[in-house]
Amino acid sequence: MGRVVSSYGILVIMLDLIIIGGGPGGVAAGVYASRKRLKTELITKEWGGQSVVSPDIQNWVGTISISGNDFADMLKKHLEAYKDDTLTVTANTLVSKVEKSEHGFTVTLQNGETRETKAVLVTSGSTRRKLVVKGADTFDQKGLTYCASCDGPLFSGQDVAVVGGGNAGFETAAQLLAYTKSVTLLHRGAAFDKADPVTIEKVLSHANMTAILNAEPTEVIGDKFVTGVRYKDTVTGEEKELAATGVFVEIGLVPNTGFVTGLLELDEYKRIIIDPWTQQTSVPGIWAAGDCTNIKYHQNNISSGDAVRALEDIYIHLRAK
Ligand SMILES: Cc1cc2nc3c(=O)[nH]c(=O)nc-3n(C[C@H](O)[C@H](O)[C@H](O)COP(=O)(O)OP(=O)(O)OC[C@H]3O[C@@H](n4cnc5c(N)ncnc54)[C@H](O)[C@@H]3O)c2cc1C
Repeated sequence: MGRVVSSYGILVIMLDLIIIGGGPGGVAAGVYASRKRLKTELITKEWGGQSVVSPDIQNWVGTISISGNDFADMLKKHLEAYKDDTLTVTANTLVSKVEKSEHGFTVTLQNGETRETKAVLVTSGSTRRKLVVKGADTFDQKGLTYCASCDGPLFSGQDVAVVGGGNAGFETAAQLLAYTKSVTLLHRGAAFDKADPVTIEKVLSHANMTAILNAEPTEVIGDKFVTGVRYKDTVTGEEKELAATGVFVEIGLVPNTGFVTGLLELDEYKRIIIDPWTQQTSVPGIWAAGDCTNIKYHQNNISSGDAVRALEDIYIHLRAK
């Protein structure tokens, strides 16, 4: 492991790379980093990432079906198989800050410990913005879902609702129209001004599609599983009810990027801006991949692929002389 004498004369261990996050992105990068013999530490709060709550992941390539918990376990085991003097793993720990230092970067953990590293890869993902209405927690994963690509096919031939009138809402509706009986999109705004006109037009032209403006969800209803959504017409104040066996929520992502605020360039949604050719951020020496970045699509396979791309570039950066 590299050593650096700091300005205070203290010997500091200098890592090649710190990977932040133990979802599909971080773990993929960790496996590649270890095989390339980069002195790496992966630091994560939890294993598996966002789809850990999913009862059944059916699109992780090479695996027909796996629960979110088993997926997390599988990622952890794959990474831990490479644990040795070049790869260390610190789990159950949040990174609270990344700063530039004399020879690279200082990464501070929530418990106050610090690390020095030449390069950083941020794969801290995001959290789906939750629907905060009565019944939303009760029916989460019981008909209410935040991922159409993952759960949509379970609702084949059924009447479903989409909450959210941005691009994500319309793209979700487009996916669902391929196999559901009907899709009703609820948008709280007075116009569809947050989605591309071409997408809106295409989706609304479908015979089984309905979109309702000025519709503010107030409750998700059901017994064991979802049976519908209650919403308020924000113009008339009238409470209405829509029958649906599935409710797909697409009201935005909250990226986990607080620890690089002020250091990296972020977009209007606080996602890390990357160069999609290399995954480099606005600060040389820091890369980012997956759901914490300003990419359009969010899937496990995409995050791991992006993180591998980042790792290849990091390797060139650290080793090519
Ligand atoms: C309910 C649901 C179901 C889904 N199902 C599927 C599916 O079936 N198939 C599919 O392809 N995609 C699915 N997705 C999307 C998929 O989960 C994401 O695209 C994917 O998890 C993104 O991976 P990531 O590695 O970029 O980030 P994440 O999965 O978000 O992982 C981020 C990691 O970083 C850690 N972390 C965050 N902040 C810090 C910090 N400050 N310090 C240290 N660690 C930190 C977290 O603990 C986590 O381990 C689903 C999403 C949701 C919400």
